[in-house]
Amino acid sequence: MAEAGSVAEKVKQQADIVRVVGEYVRLKKAGKDFSGLCPFHQEKTPSFTVSPIKQIFYCFGCGKGGDVYNFVMEMEKCEFPEAVRLVAEKCGISIPRSKERSGEERKENQQRATLVEIHREAQTFFVKQLEGTLEGKAARAYLEDRGLDKDAVSRFGIGYAPSGGDTLLRHLKSKYNEKLLVESGLISRDQGGKLFDRFRRRITFPIANESGKVIAFGCRALGDDQPKYLNSPESPIYSKSNVLYHLDRAKEGIRRQDFVILVEGYMDAIAVARAGISNVVASCGTSLAEQQIKLLGRFTKRVVVNYDPDTAGQSATERSLSLLLEQDFEVRVLALPPVGDKKADPDLYIREKGAEEYQKRLKEAPSFVDYLIARARQMDLSSGEAKTRAVNFLLPYVQKIPNRILRSEWATRIAQHLRLEEPVLRAALSKAASERRSELKTQPELVPSAVKQAERCLISCLTQEGSLRGALAQRLQEDPGLYQGLEAEKIFAVLAVAALSEKPLQVTEVATVLEEDDRRSLFEILLKASEPVIWREVESCLAVLRIRRLKMQRDDAQRLYQQECVTKGIDSPESLQLRTVIQNLLDQLQAEEAAQEIEQKTKAKDERDPVLEEIQKKIENSLRDMGLRK
Ligand SMILES: [Zn+2]
Repeated sequence: MAEAGSVAEKVKQQADIVRVVGEYVRLKKAGKDFSGLCPFHQEKTPSFTVSPIKQIFYCFGCGKGGDVYNFVMEMEKCEFPEAVRLVAEKCGISIPRSKERSGEERKENQQRATLVEIHREAQTFFVKQLEGTLEGKAARAYLEDRGLDKDAVSRFGIGYAPSGGDTLLRHLKSKYNEKLLVESGLISRDQGGKLFDRFRRRITFPIANESGKVIAFGCRALGDDQPKYLNSPESPIYSKSNVLYHLDRAKEGIRRQDFVILVEGYMDAIAVARAGISNVVASCGTSLAEQQIKLLGRFTKRVVVNYDPDTAGQSATERSLSLLLEQDFEVRVLALPPVGDKKADPDLYIREKGAEEYQKRLKEAPSFVDYLIARARQMDLSSGEAKTRAVNFLLPYVQKIPNRILRSEWATRIAQHLRLEEPVLRAALSKAASERRSELKTQPELVPSAVKQAERCLISCLTQEGSLRGALAQRLQEDPGLYQGLEAEKIFAVLAVAALSEKPLQVTEVATVLEEDDRRSLFEILLKASEPVIWREVESCLAVLRIRRLKMQRDDAQRLYQQECVTKGIDSPESLQLRTVIQNLLDQLQAEEAAQEIEQKTKAKDERDPVLEEIQKKIENSLRDMGLRK
């Protein structure tokens, strides 16, 4: 990210991460680091740590970590360039305008900026139309009828697109060229090439991106015009599957409460927000796109789905559930009861029953599995065949739950509610899960704690400044077998490469190429490391890894030996050869372990014992004779 010599790199060097984070989180000094309550997850005791020395942050609770830019990107929900600008601003660092940008890129940025500007103008225009024209008056009456008073209209920037057909076009034409206007999606071109307003005689709802800039409109027909809802087409600044309506205003509430309510349309989102529940977003469509879920996941992993209860809404709910489950969301479903004889969407329900009633329902919203069980129970369950149908309806959802324990709990619950024999259900489940199983990660090898400690110490060394880093990387490069098969193998590989490049380490850059688990381990090791590692420790850690390898080689050889003895006989040349190999390995192991013991003793004494040193020298010599030392 922050390339050496780049503006971002320079800003990062000058910026103080403690100061920047301190604007968002109350930090307390704790030793050489600072700690506070994590802004990314709910917690009562601080597990969020900022290291001024390493200029990184890490949360031991939720695993979020990175440099000052990662922090600002996460907090402000912005992209990297924006984060650089913000950090520079906060720290009073002036950044030069980038000259390196290619002409093409500059042109695209310019175009996007102009498209945003056009939308800003259109927004002002639509609002004025609603406020000040005769046609707008009729639209206001309609809104009033839907329970949207003046206050709501101005709060959500609701406007009106007049019926004329070219009113907006005439307003914009003098300032922007035709191509850009068409590109914005606000103006269309007919077959004859004539331009006209895309939105006519419609209520307009501005759709903003995360930072609150209007980038599209959702429009509802005032009369019986079809379609009832018409939205902006995809454009260079608007991609439907990347946007959630109301997210710009909801993000604070979502973060505070650590859950989000997902509704279908903007009218629903507005109704819920007006009921005093700010953490609501609309997917603006019946099905949720994967990018939208990822976007949501940056704010919370807990969601209450409150889609329309009609059939389309129901299947949309179920489709969205699958996606959410796969992304490890904790899902609840709010299915509102009908109001009178009408099926209730959130908008209608709140208008008829009031905010309090909605809040109550929201609190009671069942977990997704209970919702699905309730749905399954509505099916006919009289015969065995019918029960199988119900199970088949439920299975795909249960399968999508990545957590095995939860999956199992739910199987029990389903069995109870559908009055099924649990073993029968479990058999069905495990059959269904067998496809999944192959994807599951194999358990990391069980490693003794000495190896764990050695790993941590060596990784620490690979991240510290100074010459040891390169020297260790050299050793690892010469003998990669030392760390192969270790839990932290990938971390070693990446750090060794980084160290050999002889550039200062950018921890966050290294972190980006690591898998989530490895990334967490790396940050944890970094923040827990207290004293700089000295070479003597490095040597003793390397010895631990060598011993580990020797033991593995010994075990392998012994296994092979046993096989050979059985198949070829105890005195076969193969068996004899293996015996020699094993003996050799045992000798090496003994020598290594003796050396390690002495090392530990001298360390404990913290002074050199001439006798011990003599022995140590002898052992070193014999190791060298065996070709284990240079
Ligand atoms: Zn956290």
